[in-house]
Amino acid sequence: MKIDSIKAHLQPYSIMKKRQTTINHAFASAIAPSDSYDAKTVKEAVALLGQDPEKDLLCIYCGAEAETWDHVFGLVRDLRFSGYGHVIGNLLPSCKKCNSEKGNRDWEGFLRKKNGNDAGSKIEVIKRYFAKYLPAQVDYEKIKNVCPDEIGQLDSIKDKVMNLFKEADVIAERVRERIKSVS
Ligand SMILES: [Zn+2]
Repeated sequence: MKIDSIKAHLQPYSIMKKRQTTINHAFASAIAPSDSYDAKTVKEAVALLGQDPEKDLLCIYCGAEAETWDHVFGLVRDLRFSGYGHVIGNLLPSCKKCNSEKGNRDWEGFLRKKNGNDAGSKIEVIKRYFAKYLPAQVDYEKIKNVCPDEIGQLDSIKDKVMNLFKEADVIAERVRERIKSVS
């Protein structure tokens, strides 16, 4: 850890700023399509990745033991639903370190960075996995055309939630000032 990482903690906490990402993610996630769990399909998918479905899974990016499923294509883009969902083809086994390092970055570039010259064959395997299990990206504009009322209502609810957080931040600031003045 670098010493200056402490900076992130040495400032007033904003309820709104800290929760903005979470709220955007929740609203995008809630309209995203999802596959239902089917053991046979998942086993076949994992086998297509070249892994043994009966054993503990390995991180697709670095080969360490996997601890989580990476949403390869993030669900949020430009604060909105990206068009990708909670589907088998958008989930790859990953270690926590790779998952957080990759973030919303392009999977292929990240895999190359991790594997250098050995990345090629892994990329081919993953592309085959996508071809079979990743549905086409949903067009957000199309969703807005299909259910304009609902999308409008969700946007308005999200705004209300954010505004409540902002309101709370103003009150919290007042409390901090009061604490300073009495201590
Ligand atoms: Zn990893």
